[in-house]
Amino acid sequence: MVNWSDIDTILLDMDGTLLDLHYDDVIWNDVVPREYARLAGLTHEEAWRKLYVETMETATRLDFYDVEFWIEATGLDLERVHREQTHLLRYRDGVRDFLTAARASGRGAYLATNAHPISLDVKDSVTNIRELVDGTFSSHAFAAPKEDPAFWRGLGDALDFDPARTLFIDDNEGVLTCAEQVGIGHLLSIRQPNSAKPARDDSAFAALAHFHDLLPIEPRE
Ligand SMILES: [Mg+2]
Repeated sequence: MVNWSDIDTILLDMDGTLLDLHYDDVIWNDVVPREYARLAGLTHEEAWRKLYVETMETATRLDFYDVEFWIEATGLDLERVHREQTHLLRYRDGVRDFLTAARASGRGAYLATNAHPISLDVKDSVTNIRELVDGTFSSHAFAAPKEDPAFWRGLGDALDFDPARTLFIDDNEGVLTCAEQVGIGHLLSIRQPNSAKPARDDSAFAALAHFHDLLPIEPRE
């Protein structure tokens, strides 16, 4: 699946790639519309539509990932909402073994995430994910989401890496497409980002079923 002699650097999405997307799915598709519906006197369906259809008509893609934007839009304490659901946070199978092997091989492994710092901090407080990687890059620091070439220019300024010799794993097709356009050489999607939903087989990219499929990792030359 990956020829490790072609790879020097590993970039990893967090939600739906290293962590089970079930956590975010429950928060954004169940808890937030439910609490907003109660606050605004709407049905769940009306609340969902108001937030994710009407509000998104004028919002940017980075707004979509911005917890502070949604605090403003809903009036909800979304840090509390994130903390109340942390029992749903878990690593996808094989992730810890993969990260240990990747770093032992002499390659840098970095988080490249659209997660907002509020969400990232809650996730890190439960999973210690920052300790398992060599660095963390959030699109909010570059003012551009991973779907935008500006994110990759910002990352290129912040991290010394050769795109052609980089492996990037992400469960989002739009993000992978942008990464391909900016010259990231090795791309993988994720077969089942959310453990509570069926696996997908519609990715335009090679899809990773299990992180153990990437082992063993030969030492970097
Ligand atoms: Mg993701």
